[in-house]
Amino acid sequence: MSKLKFTNLQKKIINCRKCPRLINFRKKIVKNKRKQYQNEKYWGKPITGFGDIKGKILFVGLAPAAHGGTRTGRVFTGDKSSDFLYKCLYNANISNKNKSDHLNDGLKLNNAFITAALKCVPPEDKPEKKELNNCFKFFRQEIDILKNLKVIVALGKVAFDTCVEFYKTNYDYRSKVKFGHNEKYNLPNNILLVGCYHPSPRNVNTGRINEEKMTNLFKNILKNI
Ligand code: SF4
Repeated sequence: MSKLKFTNLQKKIINCRKCPRLINFRKKIVKNKRKQYQNEKYWGKPITGFGDIKGKILFVGLAPAAHGGTRTGRVFTGDKSSDFLYKCLYNANISNKNKSDHLNDGLKLNNAFITAALKCVPPEDKPEKKELNNCFKFFRQEIDILKNLKVIVALGKVAFDTCVEFYKTNYDYRSKVKFGHNEKYNLPNNILLVGCYHPSPRNVNTGRINEEKMTNLFKNILKNI
């Protein structure tokens, strides 16, 4: 039943046209491909979540990347952030591969699902409030499908704040929270929210995050669920 619901939800997301500004922005990205991807056909549609719908962990980013997910058709795929993330997920035994290249690369997640709170890439990574509210209905449906969900890992401060905003809007959540790496907060329905630095090249290059630190955070989460 959940599998059917998930497939139907995927279809609805892919066909969604609710945010004109984001649709226009995506069209521009598809038209102005990065030089190294000139010969590729960009996905150019909203991005759905993927992974184990029976999983207990949900990884959340803000939105697909312009030349990552928007190109490949899968969130956290085909860019440097995803390269780093998947090395750590693989080290923690959460993924079967240490790289996430394209939709058909055979990647599988163990006990985990990964998504973006906003399914379309926004200009300058800054969605408008009404766009977030439009897309929260999909985020909520994903969360509802994940019946075993215990932990949400927010990848980066913006994703963390967006998750909190989602819970404030959808569940009357009122707690005061502040993003920090490995900072944990209780959400409604016995779900734990864990902050995690974004796996971006900037965070890696400045040493804010490294493979060991992120892997350990993931291993600890897996051990305690
Ligand atoms: S951001 Fe979400 S609601 Fe807006 S067009 Fe994309 S899928 Fe639809």
